[in-house]
Amino acid sequence: MARLVMKFGGTSVADVDRIRNVARHVQREVEAGYDIAVVVSAMSGKTNELVDWCRVASRFYDPREYDAVVAAGEQVTAGLLAIVLQDMGIPARSWQGWQVPILTSDAHGSARIADIDGSAIFKAFEERKEVAVIAGFQGLHQETGRISTLGRGGSDTSAVAIAAAIKAERCDIYTDVDGVYTTDPRIVAKARRLDRVAFEEMLEMASLGAKVLQVRSVELAMVYKVKTFVRSSFDDPLDPKPGTLICDEEDILEQQVVTGIAFSREEAQITLRRVADNPGVAAAIFMPLAEANINVDMIIQVVSDNTVATDITFTVPVVDFERARAILEKAQPQIGYGTLQGASDVVKISAIGVGMRSHPGVAARAFKALAEKGINIRAITTSEIKFSVLIEAAYTELAVRTLHSLYGLDKV
Ligand code: ADP
Ligand code: ASP
Ligand code: MG
Repeated sequence: MARLVMKFGGTSVADVDRIRNVARHVQREVEAGYDIAVVVSAMSGKTNELVDWCRVASRFYDPREYDAVVAAGEQVTAGLLAIVLQDMGIPARSWQGWQVPILTSDAHGSARIADIDGSAIFKAFEERKEVAVIAGFQGLHQETGRISTLGRGGSDTSAVAIAAAIKAERCDIYTDVDGVYTTDPRIVAKARRLDRVAFEEMLEMASLGAKVLQVRSVELAMVYKVKTFVRSSFDDPLDPKPGTLICDEEDILEQQVVTGIAFSREEAQITLRRVADNPGVAAAIFMPLAEANINVDMIIQVVSDNTVATDITFTVPVVDFERARAILEKAQPQIGYGTLQGASDVVKISAIGVGMRSHPGVAARAFKALAEKGINIRAITTSEIKFSVLIEAAYTELAVRTLHSLYGLDKV
């Protein structure tokens, strides 16, 4: 029989009533004749609460115990959905990551799925006609026998990986919006829902801040050719809409130059003033950061006119800001800079579209439009299908709306 994976995010399982609604969506697909694996997130807010508890317990908590704590949220919803399905007369059982098993690396807190053995799930389908309700976000590091988690938003990745493992016809990611939009519909009322979005664009959108899908889930969907839809759990279970299909670029007929605008407040800016303008200085700055596993994203070096000293600006993840600052202050004698200035009230706004490959000047138009609104750009990066600007966080909404209109994305 054909198989389907249905994933429900936190808002969709926020309480028992919503879980009942989810069960109706599952019932529809069971009645359509599918074998179903459901992947659930923790109830909305639960994971945040669990994370906070770890932080309150200790500033330097053991990441293996962090995973033992935060994986608990999904265990609750998996059990509850199985109970509700059984109550509706649908055979179902819950599965924890380790029971499937979903095997992962040992990078606790951001583990990667290494392998999924689908045979127990197949057996449940074949012998007991049972819906498999699988706790998302969690897995097992086999060598140590420890529970692991996949990073925030990781249930999306659980779902796509399970879909690949059981060769599902489709992976439906149900969430609180009815698809992927041209930008976050909670920020821009004129955002438009896309019927289709290319894997590469979705990958960039997710990496650049659109949290509707976890980046890794898009990578897996692309590599394993999993037909993945983003759709709403708030649709009538008897009359659902198809949502947005993530697909190959070639399968999209009407391609825009810019498909979407994303933004991320998770960056911080560091500027080193009066850096010696010598060979080797960039290495002296960036090597210690790389050794500390700190990802540097945007980099700007001003070409100096006196060839003695210059300024370098770059961004790091805001969570690593203090660590980066401490490393650079310690390395000050080797680097030889004047002062270090930092700012975390910044936002990175990005425009994404495969059409940029064949249309020059796309970014230049944005610089002009932002300047006309009085928005100062602090750093810029570009690549084949996207560009990003770093600006003051206070201008986030204005900048996103400006670019959204500029590239003709507004809903009419
Ligand atoms: P879930 O709990 O179902 O996993 P998330 O909160 O992780 O849901 O993701 C859905 C949210 O993603 C939406 O509520 C929306 O605010 C946000 N979002 C950001 N960018 C986009 C976008 N381009 N299209 C759709 N939703 C987006
Ligand atoms: N519950 C986890 C989180 O909030 C995983 C997920 O929802 O995808 O990050
Ligand atoms: Mg999510």
